[in-house]
Amino acid sequence: MEIKPIGVLYNQKPGDLEGASTLVVIETGAGEGTGFGEHSHVLLTARVGEDGSARLQTAVAQVLSRDSGRLAVGAVGWPDGTPVLALEGYSPADLGVFSARTGEELRFPAGRDDAAILADLIDEAARFHGERCAGIVLGAKIMLHMMKTWRVGQKDQGLRLWLGSDGCVADALIALSGVTLGTGRLKVPGGRIYRFVRGDKGLAYYPTERAFASASEVIGRQVEDLFAIREEAQRPEERKPSHAQRPPKRSKKEEALVKQVLNSLVDGKLSCAMAYKIADENAVHILDIGKAADEARVKISHCQLGCFH
Ligand SMILES: [Zn+2]
Repeated sequence: MEIKPIGVLYNQKPGDLEGASTLVVIETGAGEGTGFGEHSHVLLTARVGEDGSARLQTAVAQVLSRDSGRLAVGAVGWPDGTPVLALEGYSPADLGVFSARTGEELRFPAGRDDAAILADLIDEAARFHGERCAGIVLGAKIMLHMMKTWRVGQKDQGLRLWLGSDGCVADALIALSGVTLGTGRLKVPGGRIYRFVRGDKGLAYYPTERAFASASEVIGRQVEDLFAIREEAQRPEERKPSHAQRPPKRSKKEEALVKQVLNSLVDGKLSCAMAYKIADENAVHILDIGKAADEARVKISHCQLGCFH
């Protein structure tokens, strides 16, 4: 049976549309009366590949611009001249099953190089979040580091996630891990620390000053430059769920840190530089200063800039 194409896909160089990467242009009469009028994304079906080995494929693409007979969408990775057989408005309510998992996502992707894994993680998180911002890149970098440290898949069912207060990083980590409030494996303590917990181990990430930059800047930086990272044993309050209602008791050392943080404020805020200085003086990890600042409900001034707030 022959299906008549409704349009042809062409890849265009950047420049035709501001801020876009490679474009796909559909030359088609569709668009008027097809019902995708205000959809932000479309579902494309095409016959991709050489005659004989051509296969039907589908892709969801973001709509960048539309006029009669021409629709520009984000790149879908199909070759020039690919005949498009169908074009419909896309809704995650119809097709997006967020809880769906693949076998690959449950296991560590051994044999793939870091850059390829990171690129896929950023794409996936950006689709969930709606933009490709610095927070998305930071979340993807945390995810990749955790996967490599523990040799686990991104959607490993034993992962628990504790979120800090940056919404962009939080969205990335939720999207990539599939850990939602409904799974019972998500906590949102707020503050500056992002933490994965698995079994009796934890990995905590505290953003450094170098994390406060644009998406294109942070993408080239080492994860160790972007975060102070600590491998930790499970915290005592985690092991005793019956004590969860009571605020955790501070040790003498923690009390002293909170006091020193409160004594070091300028205009009611702690500077990043001061946080590192206090950590140095007390021979503690920067994460402990972050925790003390959170307990004292003190803002770190540099964190008012950029992605973190
Ligand atoms: Zn964002």
